[in-house]
Amino acid sequence: MPDDIVLPDRATMTDPFGRDITYLRVSVTDRCDFRCTYCMSEQMTFLPKKDLLSLEELDRLCTVFIEKGVRKLRLTGGEPLVRKNIMHLIAQLGRHIEAGALEELTLTTNGSQLTRFAKDLHAAGVRRINVSLDTLDADKFKSITRWGDLKRVLDGIDAAQNAGLAIKINAVALKGFNEAEIPDMLRWAHGRDMDMTVIETMPMGEIDEDRTDRYLPLSLLRANLSREFTLTDIPFKTGGPARYVEIAETGGRLGFITPMTHNFCESCNRVRLTCTGTLYMCLGQDDAADLRDPLRASEGNELVGAAIDEAIGRKPKGHDFVIDRRTNRPAVSRHMSVTGG
Ligand code: SAM
Ligand code: SF4
Repeated sequence: MPDDIVLPDRATMTDPFGRDITYLRVSVTDRCDFRCTYCMSEQMTFLPKKDLLSLEELDRLCTVFIEKGVRKLRLTGGEPLVRKNIMHLIAQLGRHIEAGALEELTLTTNGSQLTRFAKDLHAAGVRRINVSLDTLDADKFKSITRWGDLKRVLDGIDAAQNAGLAIKINAVALKGFNEAEIPDMLRWAHGRDMDMTVIETMPMGEIDEDRTDRYLPLSLLRANLSREFTLTDIPFKTGGPARYVEIAETGGRLGFITPMTHNFCESCNRVRLTCTGTLYMCLGQDDAADLRDPLRASEGNELVGAAIDEAIGRKPKGHDFVIDRRTNRPAVSRHMSVTGG
């Protein structure tokens, strides 16, 4: 390259609190083949299909975000792998990995479709995925997911590892459900060379049960684990909000995602896009920006680019989650499956 050519700095989007927004999570569908009790009610009303962005529109929108500074893209849902032709979108997005514009393309999945898609995911440039799994007991798995089959998920995990995908297991910590099982899950995950993260339940969307009955502060879980394991805080980061410890006995990592007991907003680098093109600047707030109309209003990307800038300009400082016996109402009315976990 001639000396006089100066490459422009990579674009960045910076919010009013000085946080660079480099991470986009995209819920590609609000539908799912499971009905996890903390996430959905059994009779869910899903968005009409006509309101969804097409796969081509999702690709275009993601590309605009990448051009504006997004370096990490996570597909989620609902269950991302149940969206029709989703591999087409993932393969298309893979070109940004190949070109070096995107550092990571990943997804969060319930694992039910991995035997089918693991190889294709790897071929598209995906290298790490999160698999959500709250228990290793088949009956309990059925009761928490209502519709899921544990064996299928475990087969999916095998297939993903065989395809060369690194896996992190995400478990929602639920009082009286899996709290006693977490040590065994940890040994299992670390024994298979998988990281694990535990998550506090968040008050999102109406579900069929009382959330306060299930809420387990992770400070308590950590104290219990400390009786059995030696936990050492480590600075490891994956670009997400988890704080990690190393477990001396297993040699593996355990992450804690504690939106309820520890406000992790100060380092938030992410925004979330729904499958209808609504951008949420915070998981725990209702403020949102519509990107579908500006996307469809012209073939060029100026309008939608301006709408994104305007939205980032009002990203809030943080969320106000609270699980409270007096109100017992969700802090935000939409379900996690709308904005993705
Ligand atoms: N279906 C995929 C899955 O289960 O991995 C992706 C979407 S799911 C909404 C993403 C993550 O959100 C899962 O790990 C799930 O356990 C978590 N989740 C769902 N509802 C939650 C809630 N109310 N509080 C905390 N985590 C929740
Ligand atoms: Fe589906 Fe994931 Fe919600 Fe479970 S947590 S119902 S798998 S979207």
